[in-house]
Amino acid sequence: MTPSPLVRGPRELRELSRRWRREGALVGLVPTMGALHEGHLSLVRRAREECGRVVVSVFVNPTQFGEGEDFERYPRDLGRDRRLLGEAGCDAVFAPAVEDMYGGGTTDLSSGERVFVDAGRLGEVWEGRERPGHFRGVATVVAMLFNAAEPDRAYFGEKDYQQLKIIQKMARELLFGVEVVPCPTVRDPDGLALSSRNAYLSAEERRAAVALWRALRAAVDLARGGERDARRLERAMEEVCRAEPLVRPQYAAVVDAETLERLRELGGRPARALIAAYVGETRLIDNAALPFP
Ligand code: AMP
Repeated sequence: MTPSPLVRGPRELRELSRRWRREGALVGLVPTMGALHEGHLSLVRRAREECGRVVVSVFVNPTQFGEGEDFERYPRDLGRDRRLLGEAGCDAVFAPAVEDMYGGGTTDLSSGERVFVDAGRLGEVWEGRERPGHFRGVATVVAMLFNAAEPDRAYFGEKDYQQLKIIQKMARELLFGVEVVPCPTVRDPDGLALSSRNAYLSAEERRAAVALWRALRAAVDLARGGERDARRLERAMEEVCRAEPLVRPQYAAVVDAETLERLRELGGRPARALIAAYVGETRLIDNAALPFP
């Protein structure tokens, strides 16, 4: 199987996408940071089913990483990614260099000289609180990808639930005219959500990491059993994590599935359980839909 063809520049991508649309194809975009796994590939396959042409972006976006985070050591293997994407039937891989996206020379991206997309309050809670500026970087790069690829549809994983909600809101409120398609989280057989960052885990940490999923399951099971008190669900999640010495939760919260505001009680509107935890030195996140009466 031949690797997917490579596109380096935003201008080239736009020309390609416009040609595809002139030929009558719907264009699907799957934004990623590479180090691809089955979670990413499930998005690509969904796009493949629904769109005549599929472009996958592979870009480790510096503006969404905070100081002291893993931008430099984030896993990168474009050759492998392109082979996997070739097998998945992706039509083009957009893998720009940082300068292709943000321009050369102006390397200090935090100088205050650039235009950014502000994700609003939704970008300040939960992940936004633990990672200041993260969603500003995400919203900005996704807006740039939308402008460069001009896709009809864009595919995002529920794995990064807050990100998905922010992108849906951005697409709506900034009138991008892109249909944002949510895709279910792909998990290992023991329940751990696939993530490029799982590669950082030692064998022992990998075994412990399943506590995130067990915590979410505990909340889901309680809700299924009729428990409506959100605090009790949160406490149950924390208890599961406490049983695992290698896991240090940052938050375990029951929230409104749209506004992400913390709930006191389940009922009436869809709710979501969110969890973030350090497993050793690696920070992982996960989430699950809560059944509601
Ligand atoms: P990333 O490369 O981590 O930025 O992820 C790129 C896209 O893949 C995002 O929309 C993620 O939500 C999605 N994704 C990552 N992991 C998974 C997973 N385990 N299942 C489904 N989608 C995922």
